[in-house]
Amino acid sequence: MTLFPASPEHADLGTPAGPAPHRFARVVPERPLDRYPDGLTYAVPDSLSLAVGTRVRCPLARQRTPVNGWVVEVGGAELLEGLDPRKVRAIEGIDPLACHVPATVIELGQWVAAYYCCPLGVTLPSLVPAAVRRGVGTKSIKFVELAVSPAETPRGLSPRQRAVISTLERRTSADGPIALESLRVEAGLATAAAIESLARRGVVTVTEQSTVQAKWREHSLPGSAEEVTLSTDQGRVVQSIGRSIGGGFSTHLLRGVTGSGKTEEYLRLIRRVLAEGRSALVLVPEIALTPQTTGRLLARLPGQSVAILHSGLTEAQRHEQWRAASQPGAKVVIGARSAVFAPIPDGELGLIVVDEEHDSSYKQDQAPRYHGRDTAIRRAQLARCPIVLGSATPSLESWHNAVDRLNSHLHELPGRAPGLSTPTVRIVDFRAEQRQWKDKRVHLIGPTLHRELERTLAAGRQAIVLLNRRGYANWVACGAGGACEWRATCDRCDAPLVVHRLREGAGASRSFVRCHHCLQELRLPKECPQCRGKVSVFGLGTQRVEDEMGRLFPALLAEGAMQRVDSDTMESSLHFHTALGRFASGQCRVLLGTQMIAKGLDFPGVGLVGVISADTSLHMPDFRAAERTFQLVSQVAGRCGRGSGGGVAVVQTFAPDAPAIVRAAAQDFVGFATEELAQRAAHRLPPAWRMARIVVRDQLEGGAADAADALANGLRGLPTSSNCRILGGSPCPIARINELYRSQVEVMAPGAAQLSALLTDARDRSLLHLGERMAVDVDPLSML
Ligand code: ADP
Ligand code: ZN
Ligand code: ZN
Repeated sequence: MTLFPASPEHADLGTPAGPAPHRFARVVPERPLDRYPDGLTYAVPDSLSLAVGTRVRCPLARQRTPVNGWVVEVGGAELLEGLDPRKVRAIEGIDPLACHVPATVIELGQWVAAYYCCPLGVTLPSLVPAAVRRGVGTKSIKFVELAVSPAETPRGLSPRQRAVISTLERRTSADGPIALESLRVEAGLATAAAIESLARRGVVTVTEQSTVQAKWREHSLPGSAEEVTLSTDQGRVVQSIGRSIGGGFSTHLLRGVTGSGKTEEYLRLIRRVLAEGRSALVLVPEIALTPQTTGRLLARLPGQSVAILHSGLTEAQRHEQWRAASQPGAKVVIGARSAVFAPIPDGELGLIVVDEEHDSSYKQDQAPRYHGRDTAIRRAQLARCPIVLGSATPSLESWHNAVDRLNSHLHELPGRAPGLSTPTVRIVDFRAEQRQWKDKRVHLIGPTLHRELERTLAAGRQAIVLLNRRGYANWVACGAGGACEWRATCDRCDAPLVVHRLREGAGASRSFVRCHHCLQELRLPKECPQCRGKVSVFGLGTQRVEDEMGRLFPALLAEGAMQRVDSDTMESSLHFHTALGRFASGQCRVLLGTQMIAKGLDFPGVGLVGVISADTSLHMPDFRAAERTFQLVSQVAGRCGRGSGGGVAVVQTFAPDAPAIVRAAAQDFVGFATEELAQRAAHRLPPAWRMARIVVRDQLEGGAADAADALANGLRGLPTSSNCRILGGSPCPIARINELYRSQVEVMAPGAAQLSALLTDARDRSLLHLGERMAVDVDPLSML
C-alpha cells in the first residue's frame, strides 16, 4: 500500500492588499504555448510549500478557472525580470492529487522539449501517466485518533460511544492510527454513527488520507529462480561494467548475440546497485518483451521492491506503480518507453539498462516525439550514473557512438550462454521454390520450410513462424487482365486496402477490407468498379499463413496447438501473456505472428524458426530498410536453439543475395554495420548526419505543398542553415491520410548541435507552428 498526503489546503485567493509578495515561481501551464518556453512567473503565497516539480493550479490570461501547471523554478525577486511584484498573479494552490515529480525529471522534460521541438506545456504533462494526473484508483481512507486524554473524556456517553473510546484506549502509539472501518468492526458496531458523533464533540479526530490500490492479475510470465554460474565472457563484462557503478555518468553498449545471456548480466549489475542502497531503472520495448523479461527479473530479485510501468496495465495499476516508483528506498523500476520519466527520487538512481536498445518502439510517434533510449542517456547524465544499452543487433546510432567515439564503451558477448547452441540459418530462394508448384494456388510456405516444420513437429519440438504483415492479403486488384489497372485503395488515404478475415465459427469466415492508416473497414468489392471484371486478392498476411498452416497440418488446428499472435488477435497484454503461457507449457506447438514474436522470447523447446518473407521490410522507401531487415532476421533466428537439440532458421526470400539477409544469416553484425555505416556516411544520412523531418498537413493538396515549400525556403534563408541540407517540400511517401494531404521538409545537419541550432532559430522566428498542422520529428524513425 502506498500512502501519500491528502489534499493540501488551498491558498487564500486574496488580492494583493497587504505587503508585496517576496517568493516567486516559474510555472509552465499545461497548454501548447510555444511563446513562453521557460514558463510564466507567479507569486507564491506564504502558506504554500512547493518545489521544482510540484503541479499547481494557476490563473492564466482570461481563463475563468485556473489551469494546471508545473513549477520549473522557485526563487525570489530575480524571477520577476522587471515585472511589478504587485501585478504578478498568484498561484492558487497545489494540485489536489498531489502530483509531484523530482527536479531531475523536470530537467529531463526541458531537454526533451528543446531537443525534440515540442512546447514545454505539452511535454511536461506527458511525463506523468494520465492515470496519475486524473488520480484513477485513488481511495480516500479515514483514520481515527483520540483527541483527549482519558481524564478529559466527557461523561454521559452512550454505550456505543464508550465502546469506541475503550477500543482506542487499548491501542498503543506503536499501532499507529486506526482506519475508521477497522475501528467500527473492532468496537462491534453496525454503523459509524457513534464515531462521527464523537468527532463532532471533539473527542476523537478523523483525518483522511489518499491511497492508491489496484487489482492485480498475473502480469508477467513466471521465470526460473535458479541461480546460474556466469561464463567467463559474462563474468568479464559484469566486472568491467560493474567498475563504473558509483563512478558517475558513463555509457556502455553491450553487444551480445541472441541467447548470450544479457538478461543475466543486467541482473548482476542491478543487484550490485541495490546492495549499495540505490535504485535501477530497466527499459524494455513495448509489451512484447515485458512479460518474459519482467518475470525473469522478478523471480531473481526476491524480496526487492519492484515497480512495473507499461501500457498493458490498467489505469489504477499504472497509478499505483507510479506512486511506488516515487517512494524513497532502493528499488527496481521496469517499464516501457515512458518509464524513462519514472519519478525515482533524485539522488537515488544508480543504473539504467535499456534492453533491445535498437527497438523502434522506443520512439514515440506523437508529440513529444522523443526516443526512449536517447532520453535515458540524458537521464543517466543528469543522475550521474552508468547506462547500459544492450542488443544483439545494436542500432547504427549506438554502434557508431561506440566504435567511432570515446564517450561510449563497447562490451561484447560473442558466444551463446552455456547450454545453448548456435542456430543454423538457411536462406531459401523463393523464386526457385515457386517453380516447383504445378497448381495455381498461392503458396506461402515453400517445400523447404514445409519439410523442416514436419521434422520439428515429429520430433516433439516447437516452431515460430514469422510474417511481418497483418491481415489476409495486402493487394486487392482487378483480375480481368487486359488494360484495367484498378487496385482497391482507401478513399481517405493514399494507401492500399488490406483484406482481413473474420472467423464466424464452424469453419465459416467473412472477408472485408481495412485501411491500416485510418482504420476504416469496407466490404470486399465483388467486381472491379471500372470494368466489372472479377476481383483478385494477392499478397501476404499472417491470416493467410494461418490458413495454409491449417491445410498443411490439420492436426495442429484440430488440437488448438497453433496460435496467431499479431495486434489483431492480441487486444491486450493479457491475451499475449496467455498465448505465451500456452507456448511455454507446450500446449501450443506453433506460434505464428508478426514482429511481436521476433523479439526477446526465450523458450528452450523451439527447434525451428520460419521466416515467410524476409523482404517485407527490404523495399520500404526508408533509408533504414536494410538495417530493419537485418535486425528482424537476426532477432527471429535467435529465438531457436535455446534448449538441447539445436535449432534451424529457414528464411524465405526473393532477394537471396541482399547483403542484409546474407549477413544476418551469417550472424555477421560487424560486417553489416561497417558496410552500412559507410553507405550512410557517403549519402550524408544518419547516424553520420543528423536529421529532422517536418510534416505539414492540410485539407487541400496545394495547401500542404505550399506550406512545406514556404517552410523549406524560410529555413534555407536562416544563417544557421548554412552547413545543412534542406530537402523538399515534397509529398510524403503516403501523401494523404484520413483526408489530410501531407507534405514534408527534411533537414539534414552534420551534427546534433547544428541541427538544434537551426531548429531553435526556426522556432524563435515562428517558422515552426507546432501543433495539429505541423509535426516536427527529430531523429525520425518513420519515413512514411
Ligand atoms: P539474450 O537476452 O542475450 O538473448 P538471455 O538472457 O535470454 O539471452 O539468455 C538465454 C538463456 O540462457 C536464458 O534462458 C538464460 O537463463 C540462460 N543463461 C544465461 N546465462 C547463463 C549461464 N551462465 N549459465 C546457464 N544458463 C544461462
Ligand atoms: Zn484510410
Ligand atoms: Zn478492372
